[in-house]
Amino acid sequence: MRIAILSRNENLYSTRRLKEAGEERGHQVDIIDTLHCYMDITSNSPKVRYNGEDLPLYDAVIPRIGSSITFYGTAVVRQFEMMGTFCVNESVAISRSRDKLRSLQLLSRKGLGLPRTGFASRPDKIQDLIRNVGGAPLVIKLLEGTQGIGVVLAETNKAAESVIEAFMGMKANILVQEFIKEAGGADIRCLVVGNKVIAAMKRQAGEGEFRSNLHRGGTAQLVRLTKEERATAINAAKAMGLNFCGVDILQSNRGPVVMEVNSSPGLEGIENATGKNVAGLLYEFIEKNAKPNANRTKGQG
Ligand code: ADP
Repeated sequence: MRIAILSRNENLYSTRRLKEAGEERGHQVDIIDTLHCYMDITSNSPKVRYNGEDLPLYDAVIPRIGSSITFYGTAVVRQFEMMGTFCVNESVAISRSRDKLRSLQLLSRKGLGLPRTGFASRPDKIQDLIRNVGGAPLVIKLLEGTQGIGVVLAETNKAAESVIEAFMGMKANILVQEFIKEAGGADIRCLVVGNKVIAAMKRQAGEGEFRSNLHRGGTAQLVRLTKEERATAINAAKAMGLNFCGVDILQSNRGPVVMEVNSSPGLEGIENATGKNVAGLLYEFIEKNAKPNANRTKGQG
């Protein structure tokens, strides 16, 4: 098959691994810089232009859209959808996953376990907002944060109030969330492809830190999931409409709770911790699901 990886940087581990794994399976894999794509959206024969030429009709596209380019990146993915190309994750599902609040609302509607979470924009009801999610200790998160930046643990109601006031003063959108203390600074990253968890790792925060992000010095190891954890990850991916994603779960006293679903999961941490060929397994999914180029009908957009 002819496959495009949409990525801003061909030197990133995940991008390199995806290219290499595709070529190992006999595919022709091009890395396309998302921001260098341009297109005529009014044309009735949709195309994507790149370096002064039309891109070929790919059999599949693997979008790796960074959170800083979600707006343009999803427009490019949508253009491929209009051409009838199989996109591993659809543009709407990527947009959905980028908004923590929207994601939690969708997950909640499907009855998935979640940390108790509040959202507000008016500062005059802060104390009620705090009470509503069970009081301190609380986690306060910037809606658009990544890699643990903008995630604050407030140990007392007073501290929570000050942090919420500060964020609101900056007109930032925030979530106020029950702190799952019993998770012990650990979370589980489940890598979902289609309707299967193909790899899972437990990430443990460093000493004195509650955020387990690997970028913040967390360490990772292989973990065996319970049936409930596995079902939670699969149902979360389904609720978001993502075929390829990382579902982050906290182990709470009342069972697994979903923290976040990531539509461009990194491969390095999970491949190293689990020894699994995650990139190869993604191609297995593409091979089963992408329609061959020749008998494709135009997408609905
Ligand atoms: P980001 O998307 O910036 O990584 P997360 O919401 O994933 O932000 O939070 C970063 C880390 O903080 C998580 O990996 C987890 O270890 C910890 N964490 C986040 N929310 C909670 C919570 N409600 N209870 C306990 N720990 C949490």
